[in-house]
Amino acid sequence: MKIGNAEIFVLSDGMTKSDGGGFFGLVPRVLWEKVHPADELNRVPWALRSLLIIADGKKILVDTGYGDKLTPKQKKIFAMEGQGDRRLLGDLERVGFSADEIDIVVNTHLHADHCGGNTVFDGDKVVATFPNARYIVQRRELAQAMFPNERTRGTYFKENFVPLLESGAMEIVDGDYQITPSVRTMVTRGHTPGHQVVVVESGGEAAIFLADACSWAVHMERLAWVPAFDIEPMESIQTKKRLRDWALRHNALLIFQHDPTTIFGRVRPGEKPSRFVVEKLSP
Ligand SMILES: [Zn+2]
Repeated sequence: MKIGNAEIFVLSDGMTKSDGGGFFGLVPRVLWEKVHPADELNRVPWALRSLLIIADGKKILVDTGYGDKLTPKQKKIFAMEGQGDRRLLGDLERVGFSADEIDIVVNTHLHADHCGGNTVFDGDKVVATFPNARYIVQRRELAQAMFPNERTRGTYFKENFVPLLESGAMEIVDGDYQITPSVRTMVTRGHTPGHQVVVVESGGEAAIFLADACSWAVHMERLAWVPAFDIEPMESIQTKKRLRDWALRHNALLIFQHDPTTIFGRVRPGEKPSRFVVEKLSP
């Protein structure tokens, strides 16, 4: 798909499932299951998407899924059995690129489902999956990941980022960051204090990879629907308002990272004042 002179590809690291309460927080099941049905174990399916951007002579990969270092036990917990390894790398090859061609990896944040594919095993060592890339990470996010607390410990796995810090492949940035003339990040706190989204702007068009600032379309339509995963729920709501207003002003293409059924959309004013809808677009 083209955004002005930039080209984007949505890639997949597979599908997973987890308890619906995680994504819908305080919202009662009777409400959310009308939108996203759960299985007999109360789980909802969700996608692990990455975005490949070809722009300004660079190949930029945003997020890397769970990756290929999962143990059999983790695969079972994440309901990813039978999906094999090289899910993201295979998808990258499908669109014509190999891991060593990637110039830049952006991690929206360092939760395991967003940076697990940053690194791979090489014998008993853990090395960069994308050997020629610099990996862009927010300083505040790295601090959270290096010093997790009781609540965040279960998703910050050091093997996904410490080897890159040690090898010098990580570029630590502080605040909104212009990566190339048409690709930039915006810090969007809420899900984590150092979370960032990625914006592509070229030839008067705009697209935004929302990551966990708003990973399902319904979370944009209903601002009070905030995932239980979010560390700063009131910040999440403010961030979504800001992103929604920005997207409306720029008629931006929204890209949802985890929504099992909606990948692309555009936000539109709804019938009632102060209500907004996401117009779903087919890929
Ligand atoms: Zn996530």
